[in-house]
Amino acid sequence: MNHINFNNIGKICYGRGSFNQLGEILQPKRNENEGFMVFLVDDYFEGKELAKNLPMESNDMVYYIDGSHEEPKTSQIDELRDEVLSTKGLPAGIVGIGGGSIMDITKALALMVTNEGSSVLYQGLNLIKKPGVYHVGVPTISGTGAECSMTAVLSGPEKKLGLKCEWTVFNQVVLDPDLIASVPTNQWFYTGMDTYIHCIESATGIKYNAFSKAYGDQSIELCREVFLGENAGQNPENDEKLMLASLFGGLSLTYSEVGVCHALSYGLSYVFGTRHGYANCLAFNHLHDIYGDAVNEFHEMLERFNVTLPQNQAAGWSDAEITAMAKIAIRLEHMWYHAFGPDWKNKVTMEYIENFYRRM
Ligand code: NAD
Ligand code: ZN
Repeated sequence: MNHINFNNIGKICYGRGSFNQLGEILQPKRNENEGFMVFLVDDYFEGKELAKNLPMESNDMVYYIDGSHEEPKTSQIDELRDEVLSTKGLPAGIVGIGGGSIMDITKALALMVTNEGSSVLYQGLNLIKKPGVYHVGVPTISGTGAECSMTAVLSGPEKKLGLKCEWTVFNQVVLDPDLIASVPTNQWFYTGMDTYIHCIESATGIKYNAFSKAYGDQSIELCREVFLGENAGQNPENDEKLMLASLFGGLSLTYSEVGVCHALSYGLSYVFGTRHGYANCLAFNHLHDIYGDAVNEFHEMLERFNVTLPQNQAAGWSDAEITAMAKIAIRLEHMWYHAFGPDWKNKVTMEYIENFYRRM
């Protein structure tokens, strides 16, 4: 067995108001390369207080990126890379402020400014040839674990798959719980559930181990307080907890793996553009036979926040769409391997996967 040798996040600044330290954090890195920073900010913040307080210097670039529609694409990264390099050359660093999609765009851009050709060439494990530039993640919504993972998930012409290598991981993360206070409740719920599902899937497969368990147990405990506890809901105390739950869930996953729910979710996102957290909820809702009590607990959380998920969606899907989703899902061999062990291929056929979609 080959054990993961994880290159963790370089530095973590955590706490309410820590965003205000971003300027001093960036300072020592500012002279590298062509001496400018690129800020990638979720366009929700355009014109808001946070945008006015960005620690920008005159030579820096800022892009407000629409984080609300499609998930990041390889073509988007290639265009952004070409534009930055042709305008000002190699940046000193890239700073991403937003949700999982902005985290992934930031990680991918940091790698692609030093690696030639299209990002499509690097979708997979350890395909990146050179380290990227310094990059910083400032999450503004919690749950994906993208702030700590070693992958930058991108949809390309043929697949949804991450640029995954040790250089993908952020050099610096700033975790300021105040930044997630403005997330709309539905989105807060769906992205938060991503963490809960990460921990459940991490724990129910052959790669689970004491490291994954230590972080995963703590993350699930925090999720229960945030989504089911006496003081459940969006409030400052829970913002602090959810931010850590997301980080710990990501760390649990790093040493283990996701499973059936994420494989199905990737198919939904690829074919219909369904957003990651929501797609996970759609799939997890129907996986009682795989994840048992955890699905019951998930239903309690749905009820607590009056979140209703659509039923009988599959009735509106064509056979071709269902097959297309199953094709995406079956390629995620590492997830099926984790969920069902080395003999997974005896069980997991296209038909088996299509039947999961037909339940939805
Ligand atoms: P997101 O980035 O998709 O953003 C969701 C919505 O929330 C957007 O409309 C955004 O504008 C809004 N938003 C973000 N912060 C806000 C704030 N503070 N106030 C108000 N609105 C705010 O959200 P996500 O669920 O964090 O990320 C999903 C993406 O993450 C997908 O692209 C998925 O592929 C990726 N992902 C990556 C990893 C990884 O390990 N790299 C893991 C899981 C998911
Ligand atoms: Zn996820």
